[in-house]
Amino acid sequence: MADIKSMTLQELAAWLKEQGEPAFRAGQIFRWLHQRGASDFEEMSDLPKPLRQKLAQTCLLALPTVARKQVSAQDGTIKYLWRLADGNCVESVLMRYQHGNTVCISCQVGCRMGCAFCASTIAGKVRDLTAGEMVDQVLLTQRDGGAPVSNIVLMGIGEPLDNFDTVMRFLELVNCPDGLNIGMRHISLSTCGLVEQIDKLAGYGLQLTLSVSLHAPDDQTRSKIMPVNRSVGVERLIAACRRYFQRTGRRISYEYAMIDGVNDSDWQADLLAGLLKGMPAHVNLIPLNQVEESPLRPSRRVAAFQKRLESRGITVTVRRRLGSDIDASCGQLRRKAMAAQEQT
Ligand code: SAH
Repeated sequence: MADIKSMTLQELAAWLKEQGEPAFRAGQIFRWLHQRGASDFEEMSDLPKPLRQKLAQTCLLALPTVARKQVSAQDGTIKYLWRLADGNCVESVLMRYQHGNTVCISCQVGCRMGCAFCASTIAGKVRDLTAGEMVDQVLLTQRDGGAPVSNIVLMGIGEPLDNFDTVMRFLELVNCPDGLNIGMRHISLSTCGLVEQIDKLAGYGLQLTLSVSLHAPDDQTRSKIMPVNRSVGVERLIAACRRYFQRTGRRISYEYAMIDGVNDSDWQADLLAGLLKGMPAHVNLIPLNQVEESPLRPSRRVAAFQKRLESRGITVTVRRRLGSDIDASCGQLRRKAMAAQEQT
């Protein structure tokens, strides 16, 4: 069966041509799939019936369904647990900001990066998502939340640069004027820091925002909480970030989850400021969301750490905790659903 939802407009046109269909059908079908979020080929009322039947026989089209949904009473953030066609579940979060609605999506079922503070990685990676499954998260969140989505962040479950080609395909799909038509400047991609892939991404020269989950400025600490650091190290990561900026002209955002007694001391703030010196950077301090399975605790020094960085000329923001009443951070809802399933 063909994965029609993951085909770019050009691929769809080529595929239809092989079937002897006229070129203009590609745009029609693409818009049904990527703008209207059709769940069945029968809905595609401007296609001839035989074509609809042929598509139904040869193509996959199974939209995820809502397995769980939680609405924050505090700020209207909505968290979705989607059940995919094969029964696996992933999460998305709809956040309402003044600058527009943002959906945070997942790119893998689970994750193999092993970060000590993250719920998504506890049971490892099950599989990569398809580009179509990533688009579906945006479309269905938009539809269910009743609000147009203007921004996408790839900060849900999974490591986007560990599913590189699919993520590039996803970006092309959502960027397409016949699809969701979301501009690259409205998209953020967050990575734990896969250096080779950062260089590869730089080669595309995209105008998206790259976020690097740094979380520690020294190898000893970073390797302890992020196994990915053991092979590459902070210095090479930062060097790749500098190259990325030179190539794309886009300022990088550094994520820094504040963990009590691990990465929140003054010397680490000073080291971090030194690392980022002379390159346009933005540090986003994240109050740690406590994960039940982990002994790590939120830092009590967020304000002091922020001040220290700022006094050394670094631009710093502290992430607002949207949806903290609904487990709206990475992988926690999926973990709970998995645990509940294990008990039954
Ligand atoms: N794999 C990618 C994207 C997914 S995680 C990455 O590593 O960047 C999105 C962000 O949330 C990352 O910065 C991640 O380190 C952070 N994060 C994960 N678990 C967290 C927790 N318990 N508290 C605070 N931030 C967390």
